Amino acid sequence: MHLQGREVISIKTPAEIEAIREACRVVVGAFHAVEPLMVPGTPTDKIDEAVERYIRGQGGRSAFKGYPNPEGKPFPASACVSIEEEVVHGIPDGRPLKAGQIVGVDIGVEKDGFFGDAAMTFAIGRVDGLRQRLMRATREALMRGIAKARAGNRISDVSHAIEEHVTSRSFSVVRELVGHGVGRQLHEEPPIPNFGAPGRGPVMQENMVLAIEPMVNVGTGEVDTIGEWRVVSRDRMPSAHFEHTIVVKKGAPDILTASK
Ligand code: MG
Repeated sequence: MHLQGREVISIKTPAEIEAIREACRVVVGAFHAVEPLMVPGTPTDKIDEAVERYIRGQGGRSAFKGYPNPEGKPFPASACVSIEEEVVHGIPDGRPLKAGQIVGVDIGVEKDGFFGDAAMTFAIGRVDGLRQRLMRATREALMRGIAKARAGNRISDVSHAIEEHVTSRSFSVVRELVGHGVGRQLHEEPPIPNFGAPGRGPVMQENMVLAIEPMVNVGTGEVDTIGEWRVVSRDRMPSAHFEHTIVVKKGAPDILTASK
């Protein structure tokens, strides 16, 4: 997500956190609905349909469908489905999934005026060791970043923990896209980069709600945007993406999009 401006970072009330928790519960349910489809042969628009149907059945709506793009058309689908070198914002279509691919699914839900956001990368059938290592490193980097999301720490402590883990595995973070606050809007302050020196940026406070989302490439961290939405690695090597919505606490954060 690209963010501009310097708004304040909102501290959520307990009632607001419960409303965000409910949106996140729908996000998790949508992931359960798509999981059985993440196999060779599934066209990616079937994944999108399953997400749309599930979210509607829960009284929510996709936070992505119709999301405005200053460069052109709004996002056309309920889920982002990003295959292999697609980093984020892949648009579902008739392409069938193939064994050996890694595929990122990003799902955002709005319910009763509050948002939740999460992403996961799936292995389709058997994938090679490189892709397994990429997915593991990205998931671990997310969890290391989340571990730093505590009241009193600064935003870049999260960023630094993510980058440090990714580079220790010889992969590259994507710098062009960042995590974000979540709440009454899908994308709120602050931007949360996946790189940088620690000890910088806003101090996190209890009951801030954040979406932390490392995007990690095998090769270069540079990306290209193709058309209005699709972001791909510049060298067209595979990319992985994991994201959770969390609540900052004095101790360990509350991960609202964790699968229970
Ligand atoms: Mg997000």
